[in-house]
Amino acid sequence: MIKKMKKIFFGLLGTLLLGSSTVFNANAEIINSPPPQAATKAVVDYLTGRFNPTKHKAFVKVPSRYASRSGFYLRKEAFESFKKMHEAARKDGVKLVIRSATRNFDYQKGIWERKWHAQKKSRSAKNKALNILQLSSMPSTSRHHWGTEVDLNSFSNSWFEHDQGLKLFRWMENNAANYGFHRPYTKKDNTRPYGYNEEKWHWSYTPLSIAMTRDAAKVLTDSKITGFSGSKTAVEIGVVEKYILGVHESCR
Ligand SMILES: [Zn+2]
Repeated sequence: MIKKMKKIFFGLLGTLLLGSSTVFNANAEIINSPPPQAATKAVVDYLTGRFNPTKHKAFVKVPSRYASRSGFYLRKEAFESFKKMHEAARKDGVKLVIRSATRNFDYQKGIWERKWHAQKKSRSAKNKALNILQLSSMPSTSRHHWGTEVDLNSFSNSWFEHDQGLKLFRWMENNAANYGFHRPYTKKDNTRPYGYNEEKWHWSYTPLSIAMTRDAAKVLTDSKITGFSGSKTAVEIGVVEKYILGVHESCR
């Protein structure tokens, strides 16, 4: 087990440093070269979104015909598979539209702080954070940092319950797994008691993101979640355990 975790950890590191095609391709030179602290820092920086996807060689820009606007980025492997899925869906009369993809720390911080400052002043810091966490991630804890996540078509669960939206959702449920995409934020139940509410639009490219989730379990702690208004509540809430790891079993 430890051996396996080590392989995944260094596999991700190899990917970050070399931009190799899969997280599972560990590179012997990389394993032996950086001191362990630097290696951990590189993984923490990646997982917490402290990089610029427009400059990262493992990322690719999503052409606007796949998305609601231009300027989205994804990990190359995730986008290659998305393109195949998009084409298969198109043949079945379903149009997949990316509404959001990679969001780095700074971007997420912008979303978070806007919502933070809109909260009632009388609320405790913890309650402000819990309120925002119903739908938005704390900077550093979003799966959207990783380049493996897409939000599709609509940010409303109810859109996916009728007509076109229902057709799309059913198509994804029947086919997305063939392309490596799964839903981390399913309805909360005994198997997923914590974390964000259900998001029918959010899909994760698990051939990469499962390894990243396991790396997050290994290297991220609540006290490393810093650098924005209300970040101290991360420890009190237990965001790593409850939110980062509070995903459907297909994604961990
Ligand atoms: Zn999302």
